Amino acid sequence: MSSPRIAVSGLVRRVDGLDRSGVNVAYLAAVLAAGGIPIILSPVLGPDRAEEALRGVDGLLLTGGDDVDPAHYGDIPSSQLGAIDSRRDEFEFALFRSARARGLPVLAVCRGLQLVNVALGGNLWQDLPSERPGAVLHEQRVARDRRTHAVRVSPDTRTRALLGAERLMVNSFHHQSIRELGDGLLATGWAEDGVIEAAEVADGGWVVGVQWHPESFHAEAASPDLALFRGLVAESRRCAG
Ligand code: MN
Repeated sequence: MSSPRIAVSGLVRRVDGLDRSGVNVAYLAAVLAAGGIPIILSPVLGPDRAEEALRGVDGLLLTGGDDVDPAHYGDIPSSQLGAIDSRRDEFEFALFRSARARGLPVLAVCRGLQLVNVALGGNLWQDLPSERPGAVLHEQRVARDRRTHAVRVSPDTRTRALLGAERLMVNSFHHQSIRELGDGLLATGWAEDGVIEAAEVADGGWVVGVQWHPESFHAEAASPDLALFRGLVAESRRCAG
């Protein structure tokens, strides 16, 4: 049985004076640990080539990163808005739409979940600390593989079946989150302050998103988070078969 090929959305960043394209290695390691073959797709491809780039690929992982341009959900930029990259936004919207059209499974992490929500017509809190001050610190200051806040997962959802627990501790590196849900998107997990931490599509498709960074735990043997990647790979194998 061959390993499913998982497209991983990349980013472009200037390092040492040159524009380079890639993705955090943790995403690749998590896909590999789950039995998939990660294929980085760079936003340099552009939205017009997204559909073609997904041919021969069995699943899609939308990764974390900069803020989604609020113009995409009809909002003006907050003074607390972080960096945006319109080229990456456009490319990932095209990737998501093409994946949905082909029925490919999609796992969306952090910014990825926010992008999925906006693609489906939802909107975002642009800056949680200033717009929705609460008790939970969502930009943790400790290492990425430390779990700092709880998430409650609703029963009878795909997210719950994957994670296998009603409550788990997660890491947190975001200042934005889902505000109003997009069409057909169902919230499946919440932090103690009510911030949406997980969502999935309710139409029977396999689209699962989390606001935390499950890839950071790829080296943790008993990590419940790895089940998200295993689920993506298993569904990709089913679609490919
Ligand atoms: Mn959080």
